[in-house]
Amino acid sequence: MSALPGLPLQLFIDGQWRDSADGTTFPVHDPAFDRVLTEIADATPADALRALDAASAAADAWAKTPARVRSGILLRTFELVVEHADDIARLITLEMGKPLSESAAEVRYGGEFLRWFAEEAVRAGGRTGSTPEGTGAMLVTHRPVGPCYLITPWNFPLAMATRKIGPALAAGCTAVIKPAALTPLTTLYLVSLFEQAGLPEGVLNAIPSTRSAAVSDALMRDPRLRKVSFTGSTGVGRTLLKQAADNILRTSMELGGNAPFLVFDDADLDAAVDGAMIAKFRNVGQACTAANRFLVQEDIHDRFVERLAERVHALRVGPGLDAGVDIGPLINRDAAIRIGGLVDEAVAAGGYEIVGGPRAEDGAFFPPTIVTDVPTDSRLYREEIFGPVVSITKFTTEAEAVDLANSTEYGLAAYAYTADLARGHRLMASIDAGMLGVNSGAISNPAAPFGGTKQSGLGREGGNEGIHEYLDTKYAFVPGS
Ligand code: NAD
Repeated sequence: MSALPGLPLQLFIDGQWRDSADGTTFPVHDPAFDRVLTEIADATPADALRALDAASAAADAWAKTPARVRSGILLRTFELVVEHADDIARLITLEMGKPLSESAAEVRYGGEFLRWFAEEAVRAGGRTGSTPEGTGAMLVTHRPVGPCYLITPWNFPLAMATRKIGPALAAGCTAVIKPAALTPLTTLYLVSLFEQAGLPEGVLNAIPSTRSAAVSDALMRDPRLRKVSFTGSTGVGRTLLKQAADNILRTSMELGGNAPFLVFDDADLDAAVDGAMIAKFRNVGQACTAANRFLVQEDIHDRFVERLAERVHALRVGPGLDAGVDIGPLINRDAAIRIGGLVDEAVAAGGYEIVGGPRAEDGAFFPPTIVTDVPTDSRLYREEIFGPVVSITKFTTEAEAVDLANSTEYGLAAYAYTADLARGHRLMASIDAGMLGVNSGAISNPAAPFGGTKQSGLGREGGNEGIHEYLDTKYAFVPGS
């Protein structure tokens, strides 16, 4: 591929780059220009099972590999990610569209999961103790769950992969990863770095595919698979949970969000506007943690909207590789059409579009938009927007704000701006979400447990918690000791 010579374009199974079993390929697009970047191998269910054969065959040896050795391979891969950061960032922007500076930030963030879990690999020890009755010793240890199936979305092509591969390999599990068909190139490149770092054959296998349901079905029915870790929409997560029930698989589900962003009257206005810009426009609004519903107290409402509108007006839209661009294209044209529909419906129902602009007739670009007075029964308020649209609704009291914030089936991220420390603490207790930014529009960190409540998912990625998603707990009793 001219954009990145030497980029692997095949499946990676048992340490070999291979074509798919039926020889088919599929195109990967650049959303900025709607052009085909390249064609890559399209995995079939038979390929998926070959990948699981490899992951199963490698499982025992990898589980017995000393943690220090597993850690060393993760650390070496982290160093290779840092060494090739510019190439990876360019690749992310090419296949996904976000501005190059944001892709560079994703490489820094995504790479850190490898370093973090290299460090965690050697610290996932157990505990010992005596029974309360004094009858003997209780020994608690951890063992890898076994072969894992990792499914990632298109919005953070590197970070979503490292956030799963890092803890799986650190724990001593082998894995089959299926990246989103829209953005598979970054994962293939990452896998090639693991190969360079000396990862043994079969430990990590990659199967990009357009046949997601068939490939997943084959893997999920196979009793050798022991875990599925999925990041994506709640609808697909629900289907996978049902499939996981048959073989009682361990599951981690990082699903959709509908994050409230609360601004109280006493908030530092500058800080709240800065935080809003990050929480809304990072990744062109295509983040599960993106602020989806701005809930603003009535006394600060007009000042907040005015200041935010100035900042949003100034955003520059264009292809992600162009210098100075703040807002790249959405993932594809369908996304732009869908978001346009959400805005139009909210405006027809009584909302005011105060910043917006002409929408492209075709193409994946969408103008940064602000809609105020958004009705709470509109789809713009209730659904995950996944684009550069600020949806604002006014509130009066703290109790009303908390009610509004929690009145959603999602519970991933939330943000609150207030100068009142006591209120900050009250919100930590009352907001029903897995993560809360208190006077901050950015919360993600590899050292922190990332995940949601309610229909935003199950389990945590990152932090000390992350590696335990890939470990079973084993207890032994030794009488008399
Ligand atoms: P998606 O659910 O459409 O796809 C996610 C992945 O699942 C892709 O790899 C896709 O190919 C695969 N897939 C689709 N159908 C499948 C099936 N039947 N069986 C198995 N795999 C299948 O989601 P998306 O559009 O790629 O990503 C956006 C969604 O992801 C948003 O809802 C966003 O909130 C969510 N997300 C969540 C987190 C989180 O950590 N909670 C992080 C990023 C994105």
